[in-house]
Amino acid sequence: MTGPGSGSGIGLEDVFRARARLAGRIERTPTVASPGLTARCGAPVFLKLETRQTTGSFKLRGATNALSALPRTALATGVAAASTGNHGRALAHAAAEAGIRCVVCMSALVPANKVEAIRALGAEIRIVGRSQDDAQQEVDRLVREEGFATVPPFDHADVIAGQGTLGLEIVEAVPDVELVLVPLSGGGLAGGVALAVKALRPMARVVGVSMERGAAMHASLKAGRPVLVEELETLADSLGGGIGLDNRHTHRLAAALLDEVVLLTEAEIATGIAHAYAAEQEIVEGAGAVGIAALLAGKAVPRGPAVALLSGRNIAMDLHRRIITGGVPCPA
Ligand SMILES: *Cc1c(COP(=O)(O)O)cnc(C)c1O
Repeated sequence: MTGPGSGSGIGLEDVFRARARLAGRIERTPTVASPGLTARCGAPVFLKLETRQTTGSFKLRGATNALSALPRTALATGVAAASTGNHGRALAHAAAEAGIRCVVCMSALVPANKVEAIRALGAEIRIVGRSQDDAQQEVDRLVREEGFATVPPFDHADVIAGQGTLGLEIVEAVPDVELVLVPLSGGGLAGGVALAVKALRPMARVVGVSMERGAAMHASLKAGRPVLVEELETLADSLGGGIGLDNRHTHRLAAALLDEVVLLTEAEIATGIAHAYAAEQEIVEGAGAVGIAALLAGKAVPRGPAVALLSGRNIAMDLHRRIITGGVPCPA
C-alpha cells in the first residue's frame, strides 16, 4: 500500500519499518493535554512534546532512519549534510552513535547555539554563504568529489518515513484526533506526519504552519511547482530555506495531503513561544511554537480534538528570555 493519494511511492509500511529501525534509538515523546488551550479553543487540545527528543528536535527520527538504511560501504568516507541546525545536530548524533565521520554545511544565518551544539557532537562544521542553497552546493561537491554519502534534511524517502513515526504516535495517543498542526518548512515532517495520520485516520485534517517571512513551501504550493523564495531572518529559524527546485517528494506530498497552510507573523510566533513557557512550562524554539501560535491567533480552528506538534526546543536562551519578558524582537 502506498500513501493515500500522495503519489510519492512512500507508504504507511515504510513508516512502520522506520519505527522498527528507530526502536531503542530515539525517545517516544509524551503527548499531553493543554487545559489552557482547551479552554480557549472550545475543543480538547494536546501538545506532542517532541521538544523532549534527544538532540532537541524530531530531526533525529529521519536522520537515524536514513543513516541506518544506507549500506556501510557507502559510508566509508563519511556523511555530509546541509542544515539550518537541527538536522545537522541530529545527523551528527546519529553518525557519532554509528562511528561515522560527519560534515555539516550551514549558512551564516544558523544561530551560534546550534553551530556549537553540532561541534560538541564531534562533527566538522563548514559555514558557506548566506542560504541553505549555498550550503547544499558544498554538500553536492563533497558527494561528487570526495565520496561522501549524504542524508538530506527533508526530501528523502527514509527521512520522510522517519518523521512519519510521529504521526503514528499522535494517532495512538489521540485516536479521535480531528486536527494536527505541523510546523512546515521543506515538508519532510509535514509530509511524513500527514502520510501516517491520513492513512490511519482519513477524516483528520493536517495543517502546515509556516512564518510569513520566507515560506518556500507555501509559495511553491501556490505556484504548483517548487519556486525560490528569499530566505529572511525569522524567529522560526528552523523553518527557513527553500524546498529545492529539483524537489522529488515533499512538494507532491504536501500538495496531496495537507488540508491547508497557515502563515504567521513574527509577533504571533513570539506569542506562541511565550505561551508555551508561561502556560505550559515548556521551552520551545520559534519553529516548534507555530502550532500553538496558530491556535492562539485563531488562524487554525479545531472542530474536535487537536494536536499541536512541538517540533523542537533549540532556541538561544538569551533570545528566549527576551521573548518571555515581552521584549518581542522583530528581525529587520
Ligand atoms: C526542520 C524543522 C522543522 C521543519 O521540518 P521540515 O521537514 O523541513 O518541514 C520544524 N521544526 C523544527 C524544530 C525543525 O528543526
